[in-house]
Amino acid sequence: MAEVRVNLANHSYTIHIMAGIISQVGQLMKDMPLSRKALIVTDENVAPLYSGVLADSLAAAGFLPFVLVVPPGESSKSLATADKVFTQAISMGLDRKSPIIALGGGVIGDLSGFVAATYLRGVPFIQVPTTLLAQVDSSVGGKTAVNHPLGKNLIGAFYQPQLVVIDPLVLDTLPERELKAGLAEVVKYGVIADYDFFDYLIRHQEDILARRPDELIEVISRCCQIKAAVVAQDERETSLRMILNFGHTIGHAVEGVGGYSEYNHGEAVAIGMHGAALLSSSLHLCSTAASAAVKQLITGMGLPLTAPGYGTDELLGYLARDKKVVDSKVNWVLMQDVGRVTITQDVSEEHVRAVLSQLTE
Ligand code: NAD
Ligand code: MG
Repeated sequence: MAEVRVNLANHSYTIHIMAGIISQVGQLMKDMPLSRKALIVTDENVAPLYSGVLADSLAAAGFLPFVLVVPPGESSKSLATADKVFTQAISMGLDRKSPIIALGGGVIGDLSGFVAATYLRGVPFIQVPTTLLAQVDSSVGGKTAVNHPLGKNLIGAFYQPQLVVIDPLVLDTLPERELKAGLAEVVKYGVIADYDFFDYLIRHQEDILARRPDELIEVISRCCQIKAAVVAQDERETSLRMILNFGHTIGHAVEGVGGYSEYNHGEAVAIGMHGAALLSSSLHLCSTAASAAVKQLITGMGLPLTAPGYGTDELLGYLARDKKVVDSKVNWVLMQDVGRVTITQDVSEEHVRAVLSQLTE
């Protein structure tokens, strides 16, 4: 079993990664100071696949699990759905030591984490992520949120889980497009932090796309280590944590212009990483070889490089509105090499325009 420790003063926790480990979650919870009643939150796609094995493992360890199923998709990251979870928690009598367990992708993780952070001012939270994106990104780091009709992730809290359990075998049932969306974030970790890992991804891209468990475990562990190290240094995104936004500045603009439907988050981030790589080399921050290597790996993972037909002006408009903008300047995360990035506001509109026009041809 691979274990990654997330070191955060008085709320550190361990991420357990192993094939088949979903049937051992109850066992892992046994030594924690928890009440017996437990609320598992999941969605309609994940429930028939994995809620039985998870609930059985809790019951075998002496817990009394209840499974609450919500509709799949981003629309469940809402105050209305959170209210349903609160109602369930109250009516089944969950107390301050009753665990709330997220079984699903980032939607379920963010929603359940928000409820766990606020129900009774905070109850134990456990993540059992079932998408690659959730396993390498959203289940680590403690950001929880629901959406507001006026914007995404506007209502939330930093709230760390007490335990994260990752079973790579659950990815077998994940739709191909969702797997690739997670791979965009995986590529990101290589670019921002680790040349050797980037090289591993180049060498093992076929095994990873074929969902071979050994390679998935290696990938998930390395990504969790990188995110854990960044989060441990900057839990609340005041500085270093911004490097996790590599590819996301242009990525968010692409998502926005596409009305959050044409490209999913991972695809938009892939296009954004290509843009950030081009911008980095055009500013001579990195070599053209480094930027070309990023482009090659994005393609290798079956992700898009461009958003043909998108309007440069419209994308620029979204960039200006991005929430990473402080004092109306965009904080660009740019490459110095594969494995090394820098944050700068010193990028002219002319350079950005040139890159956006390459991305939209
Ligand atoms: P998701 O939770 O919507 O899951 C994608 C789809 O896959 C859903 O239809 C789901 O039902 C299905 N699914 C999940 N696991 C499955 C499995 N094992 N087999 C078959 N189908 C399965 O989407 P996501 O991409 O996991 O997460 C996206 C969300 O995560 C967004 O709301 C985003 O804002 C959030 N997010 C949060 C953070 C953070 O730090 N908290 C980071 C990144 C993203
Ligand atoms: Mg992302």
